[in-house]
Amino acid sequence: MNARVALQLTGIERHYGQGETLLTILKGADFTLRSGETVALVAPSGTGKSTLLHIAGLLEKPDAGEVLVNGHPCAGLGDDERTAIRRGEIGFVYQFHHLLPEFSALENIMMPQLIAGLSRAEAEERAAQLLDYMRIGHRGSHRPAELSGGEQQRVAIARAVANAPLVLLADEPTGNLDPETAGYVFEALEALARQSGLAALIATHNHELARLMDRRVTLEDGSIRELP
Ligand code: ADP
Ligand code: MG
Repeated sequence: MNARVALQLTGIERHYGQGETLLTILKGADFTLRSGETVALVAPSGTGKSTLLHIAGLLEKPDAGEVLVNGHPCAGLGDDERTAIRRGEIGFVYQFHHLLPEFSALENIMMPQLIAGLSRAEAEERAAQLLDYMRIGHRGSHRPAELSGGEQQRVAIARAVANAPLVLLADEPTGNLDPETAGYVFEALEALARQSGLAALIATHNHELARLMDRRVTLEDGSIRELP
């Protein structure tokens, strides 16, 4: 595949604790993610999936190694620059949706666009389009509490990609959904990546859903290994 490299991790190290109780979570992790590519990160609990995603998403700094977003080295940047790159290039989805409860689905997806300076009309048009992509166009006026778990997560994904980031990072986004609903969410995500050239790295425990992605990787002894 010759698509451009959206995200690259090289020699990532991350340790927790101090002195004698030093815990090494990542030990020279290398990873490359290209535009339009979907990759599942499948590894047991406690192996460092969230840590890796937080480092890739510029939410946390590695102890060593480099994070390149669109070819731009980010590990050494200050907090303000990292935040600016994160806002422009990266979307993040958590296991729980974190939608704003007092706003509708449509408004939740408009919010990051309004913050980025788009007009209400532009933001609303894009939000409606994303809801359609996620096949929940008819749910736009509902508040999160009125949506099912699968619908909430699809809104959360739509919000994460509202400003057309280069990279989507998702940390067990279907971890609290039933298998059928989780399947819909994965399919929607996959379709979105194909249509928009989005690069996606998705942590999951579900091997069956991981099969829907282009590639699968795992974390072993602090480094990333390709799975068949
Ligand atoms: P996963 O997402 O694969 O379950 P995590 O990245 O959350 O794994 O955690 C990996 C390991 O790092 C776990 O043993 C966890 O307890 C430890 N860990 C995570 N965050 C911290 C922290 N802030 N301080 C100390 N240990 C941590
Ligand atoms: Mg985790």
